[in-house]
Amino acid sequence: MNLETYIRDIPDFPKQGIVFKDITPMLGDPKAFRYCAESLVKLIPQPIDKVVCIDARGFFFGGLLAEKLRAGLVPVRKKGKLPSATIEEAYALEYGDDTLQIHIDGINKGDKVLIHDDVLATGGTAKAVCNLVERLGGEIVQCNFIIELVFLKGAGKLKVPVKSLLTY
Ligand code: AMP
Repeated sequence: MNLETYIRDIPDFPKQGIVFKDITPMLGDPKAFRYCAESLVKLIPQPIDKVVCIDARGFFFGGLLAEKLRAGLVPVRKKGKLPSATIEEAYALEYGDDTLQIHIDGINKGDKVLIHDDVLATGGTAKAVCNLVERLGGEIVQCNFIIELVFLKGAGKLKVPVKSLLTY
């Protein structure tokens, strides 16, 4: 199956000059959705204790991956959304700035962690999440993406293994 045919380019969204990679056609197709989940799992070394997925489009596959890997699921969320005690990191992304938080009891020291998001662009978001996981004593096994925008060189910012299904 060619997953690229289910990824839609939306020019100038959410800002002028950004070509947004829209995965909703793939999410909406039962065969493509399943194929994507199965293909992502094949990229991941096991065992994994926790899948850390990033607000919000990382949540679509985060739960599926955790279930397939027999791992726990830990959401990283935009500031103010998580109800219990958190730590946070400010970061810059391809089209803005934000702050991400994780529950302090989400990761145990020595946990083998997979970080998952839909798109790796400049790497600012994933780097912030790596910092959160490392501050809690997690061991990052892989940063895992559906799409990597290679020309933005985000993987170079991450000092951990990076795997992506599709590269542009
Ligand atoms: P970055 O921090 O620059 O690597 O940006 C990654 C985050 O922003 C991810 O959570 C993506 O969902 C989102 N993102 C950045 N650029 C794009 C893009 N061109 N298309 C779709 N999502 C993007």
